[in-house]
Amino acid sequence: MISDALIIRENNNIGEADRFVTALTRELGVIRASARGARNIKNRNASATQLLSYSRLNLIKGRDKYIITDAQPIDVFFKLRSDIKITALAQYFCELAGILAPQEEPAEEFLRLMLNSLHFLAEKKRNPLLVKAVLELRMLSMAGFMPNLIACSSCGSFECESMWLSPMTGSIICNHCSPAQPTEGGFPLSPDLLAAMRHIAYTEFDKCFSFTMSEDGIKQLSIYAEKYMLVQLGRSFKTLEFYNSL
Ligand SMILES: [Zn+2]
Repeated sequence: MISDALIIRENNNIGEADRFVTALTRELGVIRASARGARNIKNRNASATQLLSYSRLNLIKGRDKYIITDAQPIDVFFKLRSDIKITALAQYFCELAGILAPQEEPAEEFLRLMLNSLHFLAEKKRNPLLVKAVLELRMLSMAGFMPNLIACSSCGSFECESMWLSPMTGSIICNHCSPAQPTEGGFPLSPDLLAAMRHIAYTEFDKCFSFTMSEDGIKQLSIYAEKYMLVQLGRSFKTLEFYNSL
């Protein structure tokens, strides 16, 4: 079968000519595949099966993984590779997608979210911290970890001077119902931050990156999105730790 896919992981064993990859495909979600001889630079499948390449793959189902018989590059996101911080961020997006996207079932929206995010990073069209926050919150929402940002979980009020977001439960509570930080912890959300998070989680797909926010607001949004992800998933990511160390 033919499927468009983003290569989200490369595993190369020393001394082997084949390239083993994990790919996020439109039709089959996350799959593991091998490309014969693709580590040879002269092989015509070489660039199309590199990490962060978006390619059209010709796939045959093998016993425990797919075999890539042909790979045509659609976009290799060349500009992503010129800045180490941006490359690191893109690699973190790939690791997150490998955990959150479905396996062996269609993953159209996951793929589109990844491609849009990589495009904004490569073309420097959006603040990278904004791209990161949108990708984290939207992908978590798509994967079943959507926070409930509609109203205060206690009194039902929609807007307040400040709301607390619990990273554990993903619910919000207003500062009238809980004047102090709730005992289980919580992020204080200004109306701007709450509006941005609601936009990311609930708006139609094509608009999820389309909102404006101050630089300070984006920084805070990025911190909360990352913490929410870490608490919800209960694990960390090597690629994220590397990105944050730069
Ligand atoms: Zn309330």
